Amino acid sequence: MPFQIITGDITRLEVDAIVNAANTSLLGGGGVDGAIHRAAGPKLLEECRTLHGCEVGQAKATGGYNLPARYVIHTVGPIWRGGGSGEEELLTSAYRNSLMLAAEKECESVAFPMISAGVYGYPFDKALRVATDTIRAFLQDHEMQVYLVIFSRSSFRFDDDIYSDLSRYVRANLEEDEPRSSFLGNIAKSIAFGGTSGKRDSIFSSGRGAMKKEARASEAMREEPLEESADEDILCDEEKPRKETPEFAGAAMAQASMLAAPMQNMSLAQALENLDESFSQALLRMIDERGMKDSECYKKANIDRKLFSKIRGDVHYRPSKQTVLAFAVALELSLEETESFLKKAGYALSHASKSDVIVEYFINNGNYDLYTINEALYAFDQSLLGA
Ligand code: ADP
Repeated sequence: MPFQIITGDITRLEVDAIVNAANTSLLGGGGVDGAIHRAAGPKLLEECRTLHGCEVGQAKATGGYNLPARYVIHTVGPIWRGGGSGEEELLTSAYRNSLMLAAEKECESVAFPMISAGVYGYPFDKALRVATDTIRAFLQDHEMQVYLVIFSRSSFRFDDDIYSDLSRYVRANLEEDEPRSSFLGNIAKSIAFGGTSGKRDSIFSSGRGAMKKEARASEAMREEPLEESADEDILCDEEKPRKETPEFAGAAMAQASMLAAPMQNMSLAQALENLDESFSQALLRMIDERGMKDSECYKKANIDRKLFSKIRGDVHYRPSKQTVLAFAVALELSLEETESFLKKAGYALSHASKSDVIVEYFINNGNYDLYTINEALYAFDQSLLGA
């Protein structure tokens, strides 16, 4: 997905460029700056000396040296002085200039720390808003994979009002029953995921100085027609077995009823000729009905352009649930429409799934801002929408 919030140490990321929240001297400091210099080695400081500093809001690039990243883009965020000293404009410039520099260097992937949200004291939720708004605006006319790296999940804060209302909604609606690891669950799992194992890729290098692996590889995995759900777990070194949840059972039942109904009075050949409109056909139809441009829709859905072309070109494309929900949000479908859209891909919304309840909350509230939804999903430790 073009924009992703992930957790971890930015110095270990196998991306084209990582951004450093530096100070104006560019001669190293504490926090993420210190971590980047330690991981890159002394040659980074040598090159930084030749740059003669950097103004607040500006950005300058160096090599990555011992880092898995090819470049380090050094930018200087503003010190928080209460919000009345142009902090927002300066933080916006720091993100925008870093992104422009990454584009100039033909980077396909770039990772940001939460600039100014550490020692410089910028309130986390406000810094997050600036980061996501600026990255989103940039991605409107650039193709790039942008990561926002949260060092410690416990520091993550987003809009207080939404958070407390959403927490109440989740408490009231989430069915906390133990997932059934039943026969039906197993069938559902194999229908929903084509029997493949939940293999995930990682953009974190397994060790300092490890061989650089193209971050593109992780994207390629997610572009397979039979998609995996892409969440931050892909970043963990250890593979985790996919949890079986009743939502898979729901998907299986939806799929089973879709297949069973037309078969009652028809031969198999007739039934196959009478298949419902597919996910891909329904998606393209709804984009046209809304007078949307394809790019408008897939960008709003946080879906990679290449993946969208694949969906467009394959009438039988089988998306992940996150992809279907991302498009449902981009198309601003009602809850009922979302349900029938999901059904086309063999899925269903379930109150036993926290992420489904969260998405349902936003749809019920008519809030179709995918970036906000993803921030909420991240806050509740759930897979993000998009692909
Ligand atoms: P600033 O001076 O711009 O506030 P800091 O380095 O103090 O910069 O903090 C910026 C953000 O970077 C903080 O949210 C901090 O938690 C985070 N951070 C610190 N070390 C790392 C790291 N190794 N990887 C990713 N983020 C980090």
